Amino acid sequence: MEMEQIISSDNRVLIIDDDPEFRTFLRSVVEGLGCVAMEAGNLSEFTAIYDQFQPTAILLDLTMPETDGIEFLRNLAKRSCKAPVLLVSGQDERILATAERLGRLFGLTMHGSLRKLMHVATLESMLQQVWQDSSGITPETLDRAIREDELVLHFQPKIDLQSGPLFPIIGCEVLVRWMHPKLGLIQPDDFIPLAEETGLIQSLDDVVLRKTIAQLQAWQNLGINHSTAVNLSPTSLTDLDFPDRIAGLLAETDIDPSMLMVEITEQAAMADVGLVTDILTQLRLKNIAVALDDFGAGYSSLVEIYRMPLSELKLDRSLIVDIGVSADARTVVKALIALARELKLPVCAEGIETIEIANFLQNTGCATAQGFYFSRPLPADTFREHIESQPVDASAFQRRTA
Ligand code: C2E
Ligand code: CA
Ligand code: CA
Repeated sequence: MEMEQIISSDNRVLIIDDDPEFRTFLRSVVEGLGCVAMEAGNLSEFTAIYDQFQPTAILLDLTMPETDGIEFLRNLAKRSCKAPVLLVSGQDERILATAERLGRLFGLTMHGSLRKLMHVATLESMLQQVWQDSSGITPETLDRAIREDELVLHFQPKIDLQSGPLFPIIGCEVLVRWMHPKLGLIQPDDFIPLAEETGLIQSLDDVVLRKTIAQLQAWQNLGINHSTAVNLSPTSLTDLDFPDRIAGLLAETDIDPSMLMVEITEQAAMADVGLVTDILTQLRLKNIAVALDDFGAGYSSLVEIYRMPLSELKLDRSLIVDIGVSADARTVVKALIALARELKLPVCAEGIETIEIANFLQNTGCATAQGFYFSRPLPADTFREHIESQPVDASAFQRRTA
């Protein structure tokens, strides 16, 4: 009888934690939200209930004596678990962040993490977010979003690290958001994977590109000429007509193609090196710049990519964050920047959150940077105000990407 009730309920939360008292606390919060909870204190209890319970969300303790959280993540992946996983742990944030990344690599939907001494309200709001997400983000609503203009662009300033302490803005990166009619502004990590899985990504990239070009034209009309980088999905890099399409869009405007940069990921670049090199070469011949994004997050080396016609190398945020805590990371970043310099490849560092990291990168010869220390991604109008209140030296950027 109990199991029938459970299965007929919409929201089923599986709590995996070895501490019975903490499980009871989590259960009371979950049930207080009107959800059904089941508890597992170890792997055998988990195995006994998982298939029947079919949870729609999982609260997972990362540190357990017999089986650690990573083992559970692997186990959930093996079961093709689609339920969002929320990590709960007393571990420090970096370990939680690494575990989250690992979960994503396993193909799980990681919904975030909570420190163990959390506020009840924080746990409640994260759980509510899980239900909202699973109810509002579907292939159908995303398709509608793309067709009915619910996607909005934000712009993260890119600053010149080598022009003194003022750190002038010399460009920006376009980051898409979804203005969902019910859920509000949704971040790309919550819908880009769905767009990729469902094949909607190509039309999404197309909309972003068109909107970017329209924005560049609007800024140019106001006398603002900034190089702007757009993220490209791996799928666009399999389309040999893409360079002509993008050139066609630019030809309808007065925008100089060198104002546009496309960012491709290491993973996309490595998928079919011949085809990708063909497409990238076409783009470069049309004067469109090409950056390799998230470098350092995967496993390729500069040796593998030096033959590609790249204009810029973007160092991944995970590597940059480590500068603050690891001497080894500082050595790796220094060596990468030195090697890139020998290859005449300017480096942009992503995810700078402190002045210490900005100074370190400035001293190692890193050309440009982005990060919350300088600015978060901004709506177009705020970005424009930001630029207008700062000294601008766009020529520095053009020199470096020529
Ligand atoms: P990305 O291309 O690596 O973009 C950088 C991400 O890091 C952005 O997240 C940005 O807000 C965030 N970020 C920048 N500086 C900092 C910092 O100092 N600290 C921290 N913690 N984060 C920082 P966002 O906007 O959530 O985008 C996530 C990813 O979604 C992007 O990663 C990109 O892969 C993808 N994406 C965004 N827009 C598009 C798009 O138009 N098309 C495609 N295909 N992918 C996109
Ligand atoms: Ca990017
Ligand atoms: Ca990146």
